[in-house]
Amino acid sequence: MSYSDGIEYECLQCRLRERAEGVLVSTCRRCGGEMRNVQPIDG
Ligand SMILES: [Zn+2]
Repeated sequence: MSYSDGIEYECLQCRLRERAEGVLVSTCRRCGGEMRNVQPIDG
C-alpha cells in the first residue's frame, strides 16, 4: 500500500482530475459534474 498524496478524483463529464487529501470530493469545480475517485490499478 502506497498512497502518495491523497485520493485522486476524475470528473465523469470533463475528465478533470483533481487530488484531494482527506476530503471527499463529489462535485467538479469546473463543470459541476460528478466526481469519481480513481483507484490506481495495482498488480
Ligand atoms: Zn468536470
